[in-house]
Amino acid sequence: MKRAQGKTVIVTGGALGIGRSSCLLLAKEGAKVAVTDLREAEGREVVEEIEKAGGTAAFWRLDITKEPDVERVFREVREKFGSIDALVNNAGIAGVNKPTHEITVEEWRALMDVNVTGVFLCTKYAIGYLKEAGGGSIVNMSSIYGIIGAADLPPYHASKGAVRLMTKNDALIYAPDKIRVNSIHPGYIWTPLVAGLADGTPEGEAALKADLDSRHPIGHVGEPDDIGWGVVYLVSDESKFMTGAELVIDGGYTAR
Ligand code: NAP
Repeated sequence: MKRAQGKTVIVTGGALGIGRSSCLLLAKEGAKVAVTDLREAEGREVVEEIEKAGGTAAFWRLDITKEPDVERVFREVREKFGSIDALVNNAGIAGVNKPTHEITVEEWRALMDVNVTGVFLCTKYAIGYLKEAGGGSIVNMSSIYGIIGAADLPPYHASKGAVRLMTKNDALIYAPDKIRVNSIHPGYIWTPLVAGLADGTPEGEAALKADLDSRHPIGHVGEPDDIGWGVVYLVSDESKFMTGAELVIDGGYTAR
């Protein structure tokens, strides 16, 4: 029996990076995967890769900030696959990197809309289906920046702290419904989101990577699969006694 056999899992931001890895590993472990993202071409490539390997997946273009679209896509996933057993709230953006007093309210709200309101909306529309399935698992992608400060990315820190506590509160609300809610707190994982932090810097990507490598006691940044396997664990019944918890996968970043 594979680790996620028979479960239908919705992954947001599933086309790239951590979301992509989560989709591939969940499918390898027997899940039917609803790959959702803004990026249609990359999302469809993930589905093709899953199908080529003998797995089951389908793509939906979904902007998690649009309530009617979240409602419709989740309904279509339920219709196509017969149930929804887990939701991976992965989509997120880094937002502006300026000191707090230089950030506009529009920049603040744009970040919060994706990283916080998006998680709220997807959770809101998943709950009915998870209850219908007799229980399930919600995995919220927070960050080490939802636990500690780093003197950069102020809206991002605020959003990931919010996701950390939304996780614990929803874990309490939905425990009687056998719906588990946990957060994952990755250290730096080399993905398009992180590579993009070098945009416009004179030092460039290689210098950024070397700096980030040095910040992790284990000596390097992580790979998307390091987080994807955490997602598989939290979606699977192996974690059946775990809810409201923080799974920190950070190469020792927060151990200091
Ligand atoms: P990524 O490489 O940028 O991939 C994220 C995907 O989500 C992209 O395809 C992105 O599309 C999509 N997306 C953005 N806004 C969306 C929206 N409104 N609706 C639906 N999809 C949307 O990011 P990642 O590094 O894999 O990060 C995934 C998650 O892990 C994020 O929540 C991030 O905060 C968290 N995380 C990452 C790290 C890290 O070091 N990488 C560390 C801690 C936590 P576009 O590219 O078009 O925006």
